[in-house]
Amino acid sequence: MTILIDILKDQKRTLGALRAEALSDVWEHLTAQDILRKAITEQFIGDITLSSSFGADSAVLLHMVSQIEPNLPVIFLDTDRHFFQTIQYRDELVARLGLTNLVNLKADPAEAAVEDDKNTLWRTQPNQCCDLRKVRPLNRFMEGFGAWISGRKRHQSATRTSLPIVEFGGKHFKVNPLATWTAADVEAYFVNHDLPAHPLVDQGFPSIGCFTCTKPVAAGEDARSGRWAGTEKVECGIHNPIYGGDGI
Ligand code: SF4
Repeated sequence: MTILIDILKDQKRTLGALRAEALSDVWEHLTAQDILRKAITEQFIGDITLSSSFGADSAVLLHMVSQIEPNLPVIFLDTDRHFFQTIQYRDELVARLGLTNLVNLKADPAEAAVEDDKNTLWRTQPNQCCDLRKVRPLNRFMEGFGAWISGRKRHQSATRTSLPIVEFGGKHFKVNPLATWTAADVEAYFVNHDLPAHPLVDQGFPSIGCFTCTKPVAAGEDARSGRWAGTEKVECGIHNPIYGGDGI
């Protein structure tokens, strides 16, 4: 029985990888809006969510989704450590764009009480902190879905240069409609659609996460260099499991 389950898992992984590769090939030269529309209304109908940090670039995908399906589940990983400006910006964007299905996900209180009773995990074990507050809540919610949309882009960091349009992690598909976008593309979209900027962008934060783990960066530096600055950590783990994620 175990062997049969392993064979079926292998088959699912292979078929998923082939489907992701085929979609990536076909979608590579489509506009981000067309990729999103096809993902939401053709490929993953009722089975896809958008994960948003409500950070510096987030308004782009949120605006596009509001034009296609405003009731799409929009997941916000509420770590209880966000800048208050991010929370305000989240609420402002949701109201302004008419998004009707915001899902705030938090750490399991029992797990948090055991693992982070002193509230210092972000400093002592940041990978475990991200796992507790981001990876596990997202994994639990995504049990009910087959795909999610992410705003990652190839230009953002060395770890993202070969980001495909569609990935398959073994359980879920991930769609990256903005993979080919540059910083100039994002800027132009904000201007063309009169979207408000995250208030911290003007204060030197081109990438915004928890206040405990995000610093401003100097002009010309890698946009994500202010995240977990001074440590080797570069990703929270929801995209590349580094602690306990299951590779969604
Ligand atoms: S970014 Fe920092 S505070 Fe936020 S969940 Fe990760 S380690 Fe914890």
